[in-house]
Amino acid sequence: MLKELLDSRKCFKLVCGAGNEDAAEVEKLVALYSSAGCKFFDLSAKPEIIDAAKRGLQGREGYLCVSVGIKGDPHIRKAQIDYEKCSGCHKCEEICPQKAILIDGSSPFAARVKRVYGRMLNASALRTLLAARCIGCGNCYSVCKHGAISFREENLDLKEVLLPVIEKGIECIELHAMSDSIDEALEKWNYINEVYDGMLSICTARGNLSEEKMLELVKRMTENRKPYTTIVQADGFPMSGGKDDFKTTLQAVATAEVVQNTKLPVYIMLSGGTNSKTSELAKMCEINYNGIAIGSFARKIASKYIEREDFLRNEYAFNEALKLAKNLVETV
Ligand code: SF4
Ligand code: SF4
Repeated sequence: MLKELLDSRKCFKLVCGAGNEDAAEVEKLVALYSSAGCKFFDLSAKPEIIDAAKRGLQGREGYLCVSVGIKGDPHIRKAQIDYEKCSGCHKCEEICPQKAILIDGSSPFAARVKRVYGRMLNASALRTLLAARCIGCGNCYSVCKHGAISFREENLDLKEVLLPVIEKGIECIELHAMSDSIDEALEKWNYINEVYDGMLSICTARGNLSEEKMLELVKRMTENRKPYTTIVQADGFPMSGGKDDFKTTLQAVATAEVVQNTKLPVYIMLSGGTNSKTSELAKMCEINYNGIAIGSFARKIASKYIEREDFLRNEYAFNEALKLAKNLVETV
């Protein structure tokens, strides 16, 4: 059971990306990390992504969590490029952790797409690929000097999104409550509580919210929940993982400490900038965490193998990636 896994205080959660709608990549990630011992997977709330994750599990034990967000949450936005303003410098393409950006047909990314998919895609197909793979991290926006990148947010109807995935069979729903709209977060949270009686997770950070507001939100969201039926996922800097050092993971540990000090009867997960150093730092800081959610870093270490079209059939590539994944899972 998911509760037992959390009670063990050794729960590794693989974050495939709330906005990652690339079913083929999700299947590969789940196959890899479930083989490495991971049993908890954070997914986009789409039926086809749940199906992909179940294929990836190949019968292994795994608990599936779907993520939904509120307006202003970076996890639910998608980058878009204004090609009129774009100078073609390729900086966004180079920095994108999801390899989701194509600037023109002669770029390294187009060559990669050809390698992975076996054919060149036309411009509109490539833009579709961008939307499916983009996780909203904002790296591209930060490096663009020409103001060519903006974001669009999908204002999702929770009823439409959640009921089909609940029917598919999931073990947890996570609400990303990161914008400063406490009312919207509570409205969505109340709806989720009405339609789902399993484990819920609150993903929150101190970025948009002050520490006081973050705690107020967490307290209000958990006041009517039974003890230990809620995970508070303390997100340091959302989607900032990638480097494997203490500095990157510092905010995740600091945010978890703030939650821990409330003494609320909740499970604590660390996330946002998490890496192989997170558990070490958290233990040094005496954080009694129940688990660590790793996304960007977990995907990055395996990316050169995962992006191979034959990854699931190529024993050598799979086993090389597996060594890296196991090392990471065992750090928790
Ligand atoms: S960083 Fe901006 S200008 Fe450069 S390729 Fe990307 S969108 Fe175009
Ligand atoms: S927001 Fe992040 S994932 Fe999306 S295109 Fe930009 S760099 Fe890539």
